[in-house]
Amino acid sequence: MAESSNNKRMEKLRKKKINPEVSKPVPDLRTEMGRFIRENNLIFCLECGKCTAVCPMLDFYGEYAYDRSPRGVVERISLYPENIEHEEALWYCLTCKECTFFCPSGINFQDFMIELRELLLQLGHKRYAAFCPVCGSYLMPKKEIEYLQKDSNGKKLGELLAVCPRCKKKNYAETLHRLAPVFKRIIKNA
Ligand code: SF4
Ligand code: SF4
Repeated sequence: MAESSNNKRMEKLRKKKINPEVSKPVPDLRTEMGRFIRENNLIFCLECGKCTAVCPMLDFYGEYAYDRSPRGVVERISLYPENIEHEEALWYCLTCKECTFFCPSGINFQDFMIELRELLLQLGHKRYAAFCPVCGSYLMPKKEIEYLQKDSNGKKLGELLAVCPRCKKKNYAETLHRLAPVFKRIIKNA
């Protein structure tokens, strides 16, 4: 069924002389980033620093770095957008939205970060991101998962959160399915 609908789609594309491999336009990083900047009001930054004052990144990572702060990111990508794909500073934000609540200019930094990261991943810039080892889907920034996998003394707790929720559920369901006959025998003999 799926194969026949796929064949029909291919036939339709052939008639239209469209190659499915090249028909999807590749987004341009600079153009798209410009759109995200405009749509999320980044150009209206007043440099008041309120976002940095309420941002939990300082407590989370245990150190302050201006270039990772919302104010720092807004400034850098507006003034120096040339090498944005190599900026590790873009992969620290916890996307908690706290800065957006307090920003007097209505800058939606959280949505901006989510959109920009999605675009970077789509364009193959995966160096600072963590992925589920089972299905390969994006999990969160590497820095964030590294922090979550450590205890309060900085000791690694194992592979906590390393697998995505969907794969975890699937694994749980498969285990239950496998153990069902064993449970049935135990209940029967009880
Ligand atoms: S709170 Fe808003 S206006 Fe103030 S520095 Fe942060 S992003 Fe800019
Ligand atoms: S959304 Fe990101 S930048 Fe804004 S307060 Fe949360 S962690 Fe900080």
